[in-house]
Amino acid sequence: MPDKKKKVVVCGGGGFIGGHLVGNLLEQGFTNVRAVDCKPCDNWYQVHRAAENLQLDLKEKDACHQALRGGAVVYNLAADMGGMGFIETHKAECMLSVLINTHLLMVARDQGVERFFYSSSACVYNGDKQKSPAVVPLKEQDAYPALPEDGYGWEKLFSERMCRHFREDYGLTTRVARYHNVYGPHGTWDGGREKAPAAICRKVIAAKLAGHREIEIWGSGKQTRSFMFISDCLQGTQSILWSDILEPVNLGSSELVTINGLVDMVEEIAGVKLQRCYNLSAPKGVNGRNSDNTLIKKLLGWEPSVRLREGMERTYRWIYDQMTNKNARKVI
Ligand code: NAD
Repeated sequence: MPDKKKKVVVCGGGGFIGGHLVGNLLEQGFTNVRAVDCKPCDNWYQVHRAAENLQLDLKEKDACHQALRGGAVVYNLAADMGGMGFIETHKAECMLSVLINTHLLMVARDQGVERFFYSSSACVYNGDKQKSPAVVPLKEQDAYPALPEDGYGWEKLFSERMCRHFREDYGLTTRVARYHNVYGPHGTWDGGREKAPAAICRKVIAAKLAGHREIEIWGSGKQTRSFMFISDCLQGTQSILWSDILEPVNLGSSELVTINGLVDMVEEIAGVKLQRCYNLSAPKGVNGRNSDNTLIKKLLGWEPSVRLREGMERTYRWIYDQMTNKNARKVI
């Protein structure tokens, strides 16, 4: 069991998942939490005053020394990332996140960090296994032979292997989860880095507020995906960190939905029905992807369980507030 007095460092603490994780750790009674992000605090999704909040660029090794000073537990959630619209057009930028994990691992090893978590992604999986919307859920071994998402996925696959070798060669306790699409309040919903759940909420809300009847959907709408609500992500992340699971493990919902099905759901929540204009040349990612949760169920006796409808309702309400209330609350 974790000692709640030891210093926990959340890298990427100004981001969506990092902001929730810091809040969750404080709620559980962790008294020594440090959040680190390269963005100015004013741009963090959540700023928790009870944590120590540092602005540092973790691509720099000196900054990693400062970030991890006195740290016993490290969550590395820092990465330059976004939805398909971002990662398909910023491959080099995504790959440069390798500097963050590399320098963090080296400093964690040198400073005697006790546990190190790395947030990998379902984008590490072999693209050939994701060509059809009628998916066979992805098992952990489907990452090899390697054919990950170009740019972002290669960086994730390389960084997860580096975690493995730092564990094997230097005895650093590393744990890796492969997140499958995480969504929820306090995340990106506009600006180009947003993912499908938030983008669809925003488009439906914008159409509703403006009285428009049409929205644009990226791709044919027939692509299939699963989406994990943030509370499941937090629980799974911490359980994996404190487990004996040595190899990367899927952390995702297995509730499969088409993009059209997701739009139906958001329309139902919003109480509108809109015409769909399909943009077939927009970035749309793989045709089908789902998480096979056999391993996590076997090892933890648990899997993400928040129903998509429930999580989308909460996400929709939060995005609606952001779009209609200029003073939306951020500092907690
Ligand atoms: P996010 O973009 O909201 O958060 C990432 C944070 O990292 C951002 O606040 C960003 O400013 C920060 N960052 C980027 N470069 C940095 C640097 N050089 N130094 C310090 N901070 C830096 O993303 P998120 O959704 O919270 O994702 C967290 C992690 O989970 C990422 O590693 C991401 O790749 C991974 N992941 C997320 C999803 C998802 O669906 N959200 C899916 C798979 C994997």
